[in-house]
Amino acid sequence: MEEGRRIINYNLIRRLSSLGCKILRNELLLKHCSFKIGGPVDFFIEIPNEYALLEFLGIVSDKYYILGKGTNVLFSDEGYKGAMGCLTGDFRKIYVLKDQILCGGGALISNLLKIVLKNNLTGLEYLVGIPGTVGGAVRGNAGSKDEWISASINSVEIYKNLKKQLISKEKIKFRYRESELRDCVITKVSFSLKKAMGNDSSKKICRNMQKRLEKQPLNMPNAGSVFKNPSSDLSAGELIEYTGLKGKRIGCAQISDLHGNFIVNRGGAIAKDVLYLIDIVKKRVKKKFNINLETEIKIIK
Ligand SMILES: Cc1cc2nc3c(=O)[nH]c(=O)nc-3n(C[C@H](O)[C@H](O)[C@H](O)COP(=O)(O)OP(=O)(O)OC[C@H]3O[C@@H](n4cnc5c(N)ncnc54)[C@H](O)[C@@H]3O)c2cc1C
Repeated sequence: MEEGRRIINYNLIRRLSSLGCKILRNELLLKHCSFKIGGPVDFFIEIPNEYALLEFLGIVSDKYYILGKGTNVLFSDEGYKGAMGCLTGDFRKIYVLKDQILCGGGALISNLLKIVLKNNLTGLEYLVGIPGTVGGAVRGNAGSKDEWISASINSVEIYKNLKKQLISKEKIKFRYRESELRDCVITKVSFSLKKAMGNDSSKKICRNMQKRLEKQPLNMPNAGSVFKNPSSDLSAGELIEYTGLKGKRIGCAQISDLHGNFIVNRGGAIAKDVLYLIDIVKKRVKKKFNINLETEIKIIK
């Protein structure tokens, strides 16, 4: 696919640069994801404001990918042909108005949580330890087993087909680890929270973080849960554990021996290794439990 190379020429690069974009050519995607896996992208473009975003979307048309912090993705070893945009600058700002928070799509969840705590608000404690941006979290309705980010959303501002739209929460379908906010750029999210009582929020955050430290292999690059939990009594992690696949290794990729639903990069893993492991897991779980596991991570080619 040469379209990305064709549509972005040097004049357009100059135009995007003049609007404040930082443009990296043939940038290795392994530098932009928590898995530390991925070949080069033709153009990696950091977009700092709405003018630049509109220009970017006008130029790249429908052949682009919007990346958050890359904590829920697996890039191909061959990289990505085309342009990849990442929201920075204005899109990372967070404003507080009493119990409402207006947050840029490129803001980190960790920064949102700091502001929530500082302003004595409550309602997002389950997000602690989830790396990534608010845009990525809303796109995938991130959360814990029973609490999802969509519960606290008022409205979402998006760019779709070069038009800005403000959509109220009631008009957006959210499901477990899924939203219908596809093929668009999430630029702002408005949250409605409650005033916290005492130090309950801090305590909940500490408890949640402690659980993650105990159960997740946070010392090695990974992309969080590889598979969505199926609608069965057992979680994806438990199903994988019962197939005996914990610790299984292909090349430098390994099913974590701490958590069956995590694949870790032991150093130098490639996407092919991870995909091979995903395939093995799917087949074994299907054979043993007759359950089709669905990947939670986005596989980007
Ligand atoms: C150690 C670890 C623990 C994790 N724990 C959890 C957990 O408990 N719960 C959970 O739900 N997830 C978890 N995750 C997964 C991940 O962190 C979340 O899904 C996070 O919300 C993804 O955000 P991101 O910015 O990294 O998105 P990316 O990985 O960059 O992108 C994910 C998807 O969102 C889209 N996207 C990103 N930004 C935008 C935007 N502004 N507009 C439109 N689309 C956008 C991308 O195109 C892509 O399709 C974990 C990951 C790791 C590494």
